[in-house]
Amino acid sequence: MSAQHSANDKNTMIMRLEPVVIPRHAHSMRSTDLSPNTLKVLRQLIAKGYKAYAVGGCIRDKLLGQAPKDFDVVTNATPEQIKGCFRNCRLIGRRFRLAHITFGREIIEVATFRGHHTKEVEPKSDEKSATKPKSKEFEQLAKQNEAGQLVRDNIFGTIEEDAARRDFTFNAMYFDVQDESILDFADGLGAIASRQVQMIGDSEVRFREDPVRMIRAIRFASKLNMKIPAQLSASIKENAHLMTNVPPARLFEEVNKLLLSGTGVITFENLVSHNLLTPLFPLLMALLKDVKSKEYQFIIQMLKNTDNRINNNQRITPAFLYATFLWYPMEERAQERMFESSMTLNDAINLASADILFQQSRRIMIPKRFSLPVREIWSLQQRLQKRQGRRCLQLLTHPKFRAAYDFLLLRGTVEGGDLLELAQWWTEFQTANESTQESMLQALPNKTPKRRNKRKPKTRKPRHDV
Ligand code: ATP
Ligand code: MG
Repeated sequence: MSAQHSANDKNTMIMRLEPVVIPRHAHSMRSTDLSPNTLKVLRQLIAKGYKAYAVGGCIRDKLLGQAPKDFDVVTNATPEQIKGCFRNCRLIGRRFRLAHITFGREIIEVATFRGHHTKEVEPKSDEKSATKPKSKEFEQLAKQNEAGQLVRDNIFGTIEEDAARRDFTFNAMYFDVQDESILDFADGLGAIASRQVQMIGDSEVRFREDPVRMIRAIRFASKLNMKIPAQLSASIKENAHLMTNVPPARLFEEVNKLLLSGTGVITFENLVSHNLLTPLFPLLMALLKDVKSKEYQFIIQMLKNTDNRINNNQRITPAFLYATFLWYPMEERAQERMFESSMTLNDAINLASADILFQQSRRIMIPKRFSLPVREIWSLQQRLQKRQGRRCLQLLTHPKFRAAYDFLLLRGTVEGGDLLELAQWWTEFQTANESTQESMLQALPNKTPKRRNKRKPKTRKPRHDV
């Protein structure tokens, strides 16, 4: 059995893990489950005298009966040594330095075994660790802030140390292409058999080191249909607020992986129940009343549609997700703006859009190539209401028409009434022939739609009990 020892003091806890070797006949993972380029990278590193393994998600997913999609490689070669083995290699990352080996559109990520941040730790294994810096260099390679968060993680170590630094037990399995065995350091196989998300080490310490591990726990539980044990679940709820310490730039990709991987609905519900929606989307959370509210149903309906699209291999964009998550906060802000000064609805929407996206970017940095389409989807909602004249036909050729129409349909589905009628009109209009379009336009009442009444915006208190 794998051994997990830890010192009593949580803060100086040092894990030592021993591997259990699972021979090829005892599991289903094969070298052919790896992408050909991953195999090339592994074989090249081994040929140059280094140790190299496939690690993480690809083994976990395969053992759970899913096709591995993303392949991570780990080695005892330092990033510079890895670079020396490949022509198509680039070193990236400051917080966590690693090598990207590029083969056309496929990038294989190669990391060096990570070691412990405590200087006194000596490697137990007879394997030489990649580097063991003296304390002067230490500060430049590893850094923890006062909250215990790792802001730099470039201390290299042995495979045992590397395993202990991984997040969950099912992610600390290493596949050896030479004999197709799996090195299982923390009974990952047991976690897979019992379908449990189990943290390596003390969850308080591990979440403090890197709060992103909390949303990874939610992601794996939701995506892989696994359970989060009660104690771990409680620990996430208690530490959820630490998410606000994560740099917004790191969260965009993480949140995409969370909500755009085909199990968005269950992931969202798990985020809410673990108090994680507040630090990620505070503006949305403040508006969610109960699960029956239109605001909540709007999100669920979008995630259902998105899950269906992903599972049918249709295209999706994060812009649609952010447009939906921030629509009601934006609408409320626009109404406040109109109430404060006598500006047009369009101007109010423009100002509110900028405002809301700016506030959200303090938590999750949305790249411009996605925030601009969000603004377009929103501003087109007004234009879709004004159907008189030739404008309708022009609108059909707008590059964001499709997204804006889908968004209107989503609003119509949730709110019903005039909005649903309007969305249905557009459903028909866009596919109708010219003469039908002509008669549809003529049948419209000959006036511009009423401006929404200015009403005093309600002041809402944030609710955290959805
Ligand atoms: P996915 O299928 O989403 O790629 P993954 O587990 O492979 O899942 P990656 O982000 O590719 O996730 O990370 C690869 C491996 O690196 C993980 O399996 C885990 O062992 C380790 N890892 C990643 N992020 C962390 C983290 N924040 N803390 C500790 N270990 C991590
Ligand atoms: Mg991976």
